[in-house]
Amino acid sequence: MPSNSNRSKFPVPHALPSYWRKQVGPIDRHRSTPRLPSSADIVVVGAGYVGASLAYHLVEESARCGRKVPEIVVLEAREACSGATGRNGGHLKPDPLLRAASVLSTHGKEVAEHVASFEARQIGAIKALVKREDVDCDFEETRVVDVCLYKKGKEKIKADLERVVDADISTARDIGYSEDREAEQVSGVRGAKSCLTYDAARLWPYRLVTHLLEKAVSLGVNLQTYTPVTSVSPAATDAKDHRWLVTTPRSTIKTSIVIYATNGYTSALVPEMKDKIVPVKGIVARLVGKYAPRLTDSYMMRISDYEYDYMIPRPDGSVIVGGAKRDFFRNLNDWFDNSDDSSLIKGARRYFDGYMQRHFYGWEKSDVRTEDVWTGIMGYSNDGFPYVGPAPGRPGQYLCAGFSGHGMPQIFFSAKAIASMIVTGDTENVDLPVPYRISPARWSQPKEHVSLKLWREIVESEPVRATL
Ligand SMILES: Cc1cc2nc3c(=O)[nH]c(=O)nc-3n(C[C@H](O)[C@H](O)[C@H](O)COP(=O)(O)OP(=O)(O)OC[C@H]3O[C@@H](n4cnc5c(N)ncnc54)[C@H](O)[C@@H]3O)c2cc1C
Repeated sequence: MPSNSNRSKFPVPHALPSYWRKQVGPIDRHRSTPRLPSSADIVVVGAGYVGASLAYHLVEESARCGRKVPEIVVLEAREACSGATGRNGGHLKPDPLLRAASVLSTHGKEVAEHVASFEARQIGAIKALVKREDVDCDFEETRVVDVCLYKKGKEKIKADLERVVDADISTARDIGYSEDREAEQVSGVRGAKSCLTYDAARLWPYRLVTHLLEKAVSLGVNLQTYTPVTSVSPAATDAKDHRWLVTTPRSTIKTSIVIYATNGYTSALVPEMKDKIVPVKGIVARLVGKYAPRLTDSYMMRISDYEYDYMIPRPDGSVIVGGAKRDFFRNLNDWFDNSDDSSLIKGARRYFDGYMQRHFYGWEKSDVRTEDVWTGIMGYSNDGFPYVGPAPGRPGQYLCAGFSGHGMPQIFFSAKAIASMIVTGDTENVDLPVPYRISPARWSQPKEHVSLKLWREIVESEPVRATL
């Protein structure tokens, strides 16, 4: 199978529209100044959730430390929040269990606790932010009903739950567990083998991010949309203050600090990230119906080792569903190392038709149908953790990328950690879990990508399954 590795890794023009971006705000095509400044203290590349959170926290952290707010320029290749954040599922769903169980084995209890609570705490932080700043983003706290539909998955979940409970990981205290008939009753899902419930939230990500950007711009941050960064290169060797040249088709900016908030596109500017943060294409739909029961909780549906769907109900009764791997997972080039969000994933659209009727008791006769389908590019990291912190061998450059399709409960605090590192100069004593940090070994060691490894295992072990 020919690979996608020679394809451009930059954002493509003409991305498909998404439900969340049907009505865009005034910041969407914003340029704070007609021309780019020739220099800046900090250049942030990318205006998604990471770029917006960085701008917000850099201003906040500077004020908190009594420092002058630095000159910050945010450069965005397309419209503001036009990447994954403007096209995701809107699920702010911390993982209270599986990641903590895995980190218990690799790093021990203290780090497992940090990894789990780091995600869980972001619900409260976003709730407080939304309330404090009156952000109109449909933020709602919810329970997640996390359903497992296959025996092997159920056994692993049960074993992991025992381990995190035994280790007294704080997020385990919130988890409800049921299995078999009771799991079907709790979830309403036909064939549920087990069911976890725990706290999460859901929201309209585009609106949260554009609020953060608007606030940052009002406090002096310079946002420039339609300004792709084509390279970052060293300035003349005697440059003391501005050691990096950030080049765009419009002009070049001299700066001392560059932060890559570039998600799946990072390797286009930082070649060391090739095979480490890989663009992965995902698909999401919005289902609507007049005569349908109302879903109140959010859901995870674990169907096999590689198939998991997630869904959030919207205040208007529609349901957002993401996943659909059943129909494209085997065709590696259609989704892995693929940064083209100008077309849907081949063959995946039909997956959502009849989804609620197939899975949920009581929905069989509903008229729910697929209204919108869209796609987006995630940055999947090779070891499952984002790369957050100073980039080895690139003094003054930072990464905050690779959140692997799970950025909503990780990004706000990761960006805060980077802002704190830059403002205080202390890169160690920040609230950032150890596996997120970029050690020289993690930076340079080749490690087979977890998604590629799983794909190989599945295609080698499973016969082709019918997709009807
Ligand atoms: C279909 C889909 C569904 C998802 N569902 C969920 C979910 O329900 N819950 C969850 O937690 N996560 C979900 N995710 C993942 C989540 O959306 C991401 O983790 C998160 O949005 C990443 O934010 P970001 O700012 O890093 O990336 P992005 O939002 O992609 O922002 C990166 C920005 O950088 C810009 N950029 C890149 N390169 C350059 C360059 N060279 N010059 C200038 N600008 C550049 C891009 O144009 C883009 O706007 C989903 C993702 C997708 C695609």
